[in-house]
Amino acid sequence: MEKKVRVRFAPSPTGGLHLGGVRTALFNYLFAKKHNGTFILRVEDTDQTRFVAGAEEYIASCLAWCGIHPDESPELGGEFGPYRQSERKPGYRKYAEQLIADGYAYYAFDTPEELDAKRKEIPNFLYGQASRMGMRNSLTLSEAEVAALLAQNMPHVVRIKMPEDENVSFVDMIRGHVSFDTNLVDDKVLLKADGMPTYHLAVVADDRAMQISHIFRGEEWLPSAPIHILLWRYLGWGDEMPKWAHLPLILKPDGNGKLSKRDGDRLGFPVYAQSWTDPKTGDTTKGFRELGFMPEAFVNLLAMLGWNDGTDKEIFTLPELIESFSIERVSKAGAKFDFEKAKWYNHEWIKLTAAENLLAVVKEEYAAEGMVLNDDNYTLKVIDLIKDRCNLLTDFVTQSKYFFTAPAEYDLPAVKGKWSPEKATFFTAYLNGLEDNQSAPELEEKFKSLAAEHNLKPGELMLPFRIMLVGGKFGPGVFDIAFALGVAETKKRISSALAAFE
Ligand code: GLU
Repeated sequence: MEKKVRVRFAPSPTGGLHLGGVRTALFNYLFAKKHNGTFILRVEDTDQTRFVAGAEEYIASCLAWCGIHPDESPELGGEFGPYRQSERKPGYRKYAEQLIADGYAYYAFDTPEELDAKRKEIPNFLYGQASRMGMRNSLTLSEAEVAALLAQNMPHVVRIKMPEDENVSFVDMIRGHVSFDTNLVDDKVLLKADGMPTYHLAVVADDRAMQISHIFRGEEWLPSAPIHILLWRYLGWGDEMPKWAHLPLILKPDGNGKLSKRDGDRLGFPVYAQSWTDPKTGDTTKGFRELGFMPEAFVNLLAMLGWNDGTDKEIFTLPELIESFSIERVSKAGAKFDFEKAKWYNHEWIKLTAAENLLAVVKEEYAAEGMVLNDDNYTLKVIDLIKDRCNLLTDFVTQSKYFFTAPAEYDLPAVKGKWSPEKATFFTAYLNGLEDNQSAPELEEKFKSLAAEHNLKPGELMLPFRIMLVGGKFGPGVFDIAFALGVAETKKRISSALAAFE
């Protein structure tokens, strides 16, 4: 019988959630949902020195914003809990001890000072095959000495004993056959002096305990694979190993190396899903959400970083992604991040989204500017008129403010010079002729026939009319704007502008 699909996203709660992390969560989620499986959020918080207050809640909130909802998590619980590794601490030691008893690991009593001294003495010092017999550990000390040190509670770690001259290999779902030479891997710490497991021991123990069937994680974890494979084998779980896929890196826009937060700061775009405030420094780094991305667009663009469905299709809803996702179509090569393309996705998503579904967020954007929009019907009309012009949700305010408040200033250089008493006369006549219930085409018709009567070209009058209503040279069709504003407001704006244009 096929094993039930159970996958996990296993972040360490240490700060802002990088878009690569969200993509890892997304691919896990898509795979789980595609195969009627379970998507688990497991918090890997065993490194107490890197603990950051609020980071776990922040990660949960980023996932919720994206619509990536776990089936089991620290918050929701589940059959395989706890889902926070720090709460599983008592369970790991027995594995470390089993490995020691079977000769696959050993106690190491070297103090931080002794290790520092070694590092100074030997450049690129690695604790491993070449050096371990010169260190203070249960391989070099007598059994009695070790027992005495343990009885005294002497601080110690447990290290894996990497075997000599072995080739450890596995088949990666994306990369195919991958192999490692054990001589090149050092004796990683499995259990730390504070009794907490390191990532290596905890990840293997929990993937087994939580019956994880498939693991999708970033390519940066590939070098850890031989350690994890050996731990599975040494703990006697060999055959039940989950299947692994190491996802391609997300690269800087120029393709030179992994995209980091610093690249985002340097090039002026976010790399975090949501804004993150460092509780120590108080510094806030803006996220995609706060910059004005729709979660649908964010998820869509992340899915396309390293995956496609084999056609030219680029716009996918989350259910469509679930339907189309296949690990065979994830590429090995790193995916360049292009912020202009990211904005294109958002633009497409804004266009696709019905005004009703944008209303709440547009009102929020205005509220942040200190403006309360009360007339939903009117706001919906405005959204429909301008949404094609917005790349970011934050563009809504700049693109539509004139619908809610008359221009405070005009782009006078755009009208001055070409302005004439004849044009002023035309606009006075137009203003006087405006009647209720004229549609946008009727307003235009009237404008054109009146221009002809005044021997003026409508083309020369459109720009001043736009500046009168909008203040600047932007926006949708000017008669659509006039129609939305209504007769009274249009009249008011024409007469205020006439005074300003003189
Ligand atoms: N805790 C690791 C991280 O922070 C998880 C790596 C894995 O998925 O094995 O990404």
